[in-house]
Amino acid sequence: MQCAKFEQRLHQLLDDRENIEQDEMLSGHAKKCEECRVVLQTQSRILAGLRSLPSPKREQDLGHRVLDQLRVDQRKRKNRRFAVLALAMAASLLIACCLSPETMFASDKTARD
Ligand SMILES: [Zn+2]
Repeated sequence: MQCAKFEQRLHQLLDDRENIEQDEMLSGHAKKCEECRVVLQTQSRILAGLRSLPSPKREQDLGHRVLDQLRVDQRKRKNRRFAVLALAMAASLLIACCLSPETMFASDKTARD
């Protein structure tokens, strides 16, 4: 086995979550090649470290909490849409109120003249 094949097999086994320490092809090459042996040992140490970590707790009500959060987000989004609509209406009213009757009649006069 060549180093490139070793590396390819190592990655494949890691991707497949297979045990790299018990693979005869990898260990056979690692016995002859120091560079690949270091790679295999390093990967093994990393995996051992990962295995020693405590597994995260499974939360029983995670699904309900996610759904509740989504409902809250939907409500917020609806409220935001209402606020934008209310703001647009307020701006329209403000513009309508700012237009003085003279301006409106003046334009009527010029239209008549
Ligand atoms: Zn090698």
